[in-house]
Amino acid sequence: MSRTPLFAGNWKMHKNVKETLEFLDDFLPLAKDISSEIAIFPPFTSLYAAAEKIKGSGIKLGAQNMHWEDRGAFTGEISPPMLKEIPCDYVIIGHSERRQYFAETDDTVNKKVKSAIKHGITPVICVGESLEQREKGMTLSVVLAQVEKALSGVQIGCGNDLIFAYEPIWAIGTGKVALPSDAQEVIGAIREKLCKLYGNVAQDIRILYGGSVKPDNIKDLMAQPDIDGALVGGASLDAKAFYQIATYN
Ligand code: PGA
Repeated sequence: MSRTPLFAGNWKMHKNVKETLEFLDDFLPLAKDISSEIAIFPPFTSLYAAAEKIKGSGIKLGAQNMHWEDRGAFTGEISPPMLKEIPCDYVIIGHSERRQYFAETDDTVNKKVKSAIKHGITPVICVGESLEQREKGMTLSVVLAQVEKALSGVQIGCGNDLIFAYEPIWAIGTGKVALPSDAQEVIGAIREKLCKLYGNVAQDIRILYGGSVKPDNIKDLMAQPDIDGALVGGASLDAKAFYQIATYN
C-alpha cells in the first residue's frame, strides 16, 4: 500500500490570468522542496496559462467542473476533451458549492465521474454533510450514500483512477475545521465502503479532507491513518500558506 499525499488547491472563482501567473512566480521556487504531490485548480480561463507555466515542474493541473458530454449544444459548458487538451490531470466533481448553487445532483456527479475516467482525467469526487445532517446524526449515512451513488456502475482499473475529498459543508470557508478524529471516522468509513465495492485496490485510493485547512491545523489531520492530503480552498490562494500546508511536517 502506498498513497502519495496530495495537496490540491481549489481556487474557486479567484485569480485571473495575471494573478495566476503571479501566484506561480511565487510558488514554483517553493514547490521544489515539496515531496508530496501538488495540484492546482484555477478557474477555466486561467487553465491554459497555468499549464504553460508549470510545464516541467511536476505540479499537476485540474479543473473545478466539467460537462459529461464530449460536445454539443450546451451553452456555457466545458467538455472533457477540452480539458484533456489543456492538459488537465484532474477535475473536481460534485463540490458542495456546485451541488448547492448549481443543481448538481448525485446523478450528474455519477455521469461526470464515468466521463472523466473514460477520458483519462482523474475525478476528485467531493462528498460531505450539512450542519443539520451532522446534528441529526446522519453524517455517515449521507456521505456513504453520496459515495455509492457517485460510483454507481463505475469500473476502476487501479487505485489512481479516482480520488475522494470529504468536505463537511459546515467546515468550508467558515474557519471551523472538523476534529481530526471526526474526519478520520468518516474517511475511514469511506475507505471501508470503497473496499466493499472494489476490494483491495481501495487501499490505494486517496481520500482527502477539505474544509478550512490551514497551516496550523494540517499536521493533526495528516496524522490520521486514512487522510491522504487536503483539498484546500482559501489558504491555497496564498503561495506561502499553500507551501506551509504541503510541508506540514
Ligand atoms: P476552504 O474551502 O479551505 O476555503 O474551507 C475548501 C473547499 O471548498 O474545497
